[in-house]
Amino acid sequence: MRSADRDSSARWTLREAVARLEKHYGKPAPLRATDPFAMVLWECCAYLVDDARRRRVYDRLVAATGGDPVRIAAMKPGALAELIAEDGGMRPPMRAEKLQRASNLVLDVGRTELPELCRRDPAKARRILVKFPNIGGPGADKILMVAGSVKTLAPDSNAARVLVRLGFGKDDSRYDRMYRSVVEATAPQLPDDPPWRVRAHQLLRQHGQSLCKTAAPRCGECPLAARCPSAA
Ligand code: SF4
Repeated sequence: MRSADRDSSARWTLREAVARLEKHYGKPAPLRATDPFAMVLWECCAYLVDDARRRRVYDRLVAATGGDPVRIAAMKPGALAELIAEDGGMRPPMRAEKLQRASNLVLDVGRTELPELCRRDPAKARRILVKFPNIGGPGADKILMVAGSVKTLAPDSNAARVLVRLGFGKDDSRYDRMYRSVVEATAPQLPDDPPWRVRAHQLLRQHGQSLCKTAAPRCGECPLAARCPSAA
């Protein structure tokens, strides 16, 4: 984008930025997993792979077990590792162990109680969710955002980078501090609209994965460049 086309004095509001991204990328597909335990399985079943590969592994796991923690916990570890090996990235035995640990934990909490707790008592649910493998604070926030009980965008690292570049929060070498800063900066502009927040999370993540990458963001093709303070 030519500098003459930019308005560096104004910035996008969150709603404006998300509307632009939705126009550019289209409406995101619904999340594959929305139940809290299903979201834990989604996170644990694959390691450092893209969403298309993760989806294939997750679908195979659900087809074989129904996503039932009793069945996952009862499987032979080797058979579970074999089931999730293809497309799932490194260390199938480690991923299988995490799936079984998560299954045992959800059985302790209560398979039907966990979603109810996520809706009714997000503070207590968060303390439980962070005990699941691969679910840190941001992962717990995402589960609670999808449950509709916490008003947040729960940005992943891609979405957080985009938001910082747009002026929401501060960059920091420590991810936990950057995450908190972005969450605080976006909070005042979040609408009381849970489905919008989930779509915004997805669109900002997609933007960080496709154009607003860590190195060499493609600002010339970006639908937000006109009012982005970081546009190159
Ligand atoms: S203009 Fe560049 S830095 Fe700003 S959001 Fe777009 S790609 Fe990212």
